[in-house]
Amino acid sequence: ADSTPRRRTAGAPDLHAEDIHAEDVTITDLHKSYGDVEVLKGIDLTVAPGEVVCLIGPSGSGKSTLLRCINVLEKANAGTIEVAGYTATDPDTDLDVMRRHVGMVFQHFNLFPQLTALENCSIAQRRVLGRETGEANRISQDRLDMVGLGELADRYPDQLSGGQQQRVAIARALAMEPALMLFDEPTSALDPETVGDVLRVMRELAQAGMTMIVVTHEMAFASEVADKVVFMDGGVVVEQGPPSEVIRNPQHQRTQTFLSRVL
Ligand code: ADP
Ligand code: MG
Repeated sequence: ADSTPRRRTAGAPDLHAEDIHAEDVTITDLHKSYGDVEVLKGIDLTVAPGEVVCLIGPSGSGKSTLLRCINVLEKANAGTIEVAGYTATDPDTDLDVMRRHVGMVFQHFNLFPQLTALENCSIAQRRVLGRETGEANRISQDRLDMVGLGELADRYPDQLSGGQQQRVAIARALAMEPALMLFDEPTSALDPETVGDVLRVMRELAQAGMTMIVVTHEMAFASEVADKVVFMDGGVVVEQGPPSEVIRNPQHQRTQTFLSRVL
């Protein structure tokens, strides 16, 4: 039942479900080492189209490395990763083409400081997808509207709060029309009062049917939004299942210990 495809259409008034073409991810026996140190020790994970997976676990457990292997910012040492119909671990795969389908949102949003919110959303569309400026800007404005920043499209990053900048980063990723979205602790660096707006956008995106893998310490978000919670520790998946099991009724001592620290 873990991998039952689940496309949502209800809700999400601001994010257009019809614009989302969600795809899946299948990871099989993934190993990754840095030098002699193996940090991913055989990860198996499937994410169905439209599914939301929250990755939780202590610092150093390999969550970021796993996300970075999915769009090949890091190269896996062994195992296979299928992303949106591409085999990320096949040396013949055109990674630039594959990555167009993968939106990534980091803890630090890395907006260009000398560009407006709108221009930040448009630049990759023009450079990577070859869209004309008018078309790119139209799509950027639409995505900024979706994340609630339509009125602030002409602001520069330093004129926006951290949460607003992170929503620009989400709009920028959405403007590329990704088939899945990877989030690595998107709210960890934000002032507490701006976290809620970012989580709200992510919740709407989930409801609109986006495939999402989210590394987060926000257990309330994971409980409410995740179809599947994956607890990692020491480079392995210790347990995975619906939040009702992994968060509310964890079976493993390591999961219980971790949750007792973060809840
Ligand atoms: P998490 O995101 O769960 O905190 P990471 O994936 O960042 O964990 O890190 C997992 C382990 O890999 C840690 O021990 C970390 O020090 C190590 N690591 C991560 N990136 C590198 C790197 N580029 N070179 C060497 N070791 C790394
Ligand atoms: Mg990390």
